Amino acid sequence: MQILDGQLVSKATKEELKLKVAQLVSEGKKIPHLAAVLVGSNGASETYVGAKVKACEEIGFKSTLIRMEEETSENKLLAVINDLNLDPDIDGILVQLPLPKHISDEKVINTILPAKDVDGFHPANVGKMVQGLDTFIPATPYGIMLMLEHYKIETKGKHAVVIGRSNIVGRPMSILLSQSGPYGNCTVTITHSHTPNLAEICRSADIIVAALGIPEFVKADMVKEGAIIIDVGITRVADASKKSGFALKGDVDFKAVSPKCSFITPVPGGVGPMTIAALMKNTFKACSYKH
Ligand code: NAD
Repeated sequence: MQILDGQLVSKATKEELKLKVAQLVSEGKKIPHLAAVLVGSNGASETYVGAKVKACEEIGFKSTLIRMEEETSENKLLAVINDLNLDPDIDGILVQLPLPKHISDEKVINTILPAKDVDGFHPANVGKMVQGLDTFIPATPYGIMLMLEHYKIETKGKHAVVIGRSNIVGRPMSILLSQSGPYGNCTVTITHSHTPNLAEICRSADIIVAALGIPEFVKADMVKEGAIIIDVGITRVADASKKSGFALKGDVDFKAVSPKCSFITPVPGGVGPMTIAALMKNTFKACSYKH
């Protein structure tokens, strides 16, 4: 069994970008600038946005964090996004999800200019991804693809089972793995909360991508010997022994599953850091396209 080390691959990806930024600086060219919008004060969202801003600093990107009150109106948020769309210095915009219930995710995503949509959630970018055209691929699936590429994991002809069909993880992941080309060419089964016989389907998988948000859902008896396991889940579970009061749990029972598989991502330290690295790559790309 080999651990797929997201910290390590993410660090290497960020180092590459850092060199590219240094090159831009030496040529007097524009440096990528990411704007992150955080509405409310959800603990996990604070952590994710903080990590994204920190990654920008490490690489040498500019970043702007806009904090808005939980009670902010939808119109006020849309106005902020429109300002960012018009600001020539801003290359990438991300609005941290989830948003408060009174704000429509859909309206917010559709308001971000596709050329600045570094999360790759705008329908125009999703459409391009589905057609295999060059675009911004949603950061988590993109990060997973970068990880597969780094470890040169052969996916061609394999049966991949994706658990979860969300627009940000499961569905784009299923599309990327089924596409023609390197780290694609899988036969994909996408599963969800209404899928019967999930354990049986998982047992036939060469690759399992678990993205459902239920801690330790994937058990050893659902995994065949030698399978490749990508654990996307991150759930905060109360843990009095931790200073923070919680532990982070993945969707896979790591202790029981890891001895059976060929490759596995840990939680934390697997897909999470790769998501950030992928977002940074998208931001660099947004800047290069514009200039
Ligand atoms: P979501 O709640 O939007 O979607 C969950 C999906 O799981 C749904 O499609 C649902 O049908 C499916 N599901 C629920 N119960 C199921 C069951 N019993 N059997 C099969 N399928 C079931 O979640 P999401 O936004 O896709 O996130 C999933 C998990 O990944 C969460 O833990 C989230 O925190 C984590 N996540 C991690 C990263 C990262 O960077 N590592 C990024 C995004 C999301």
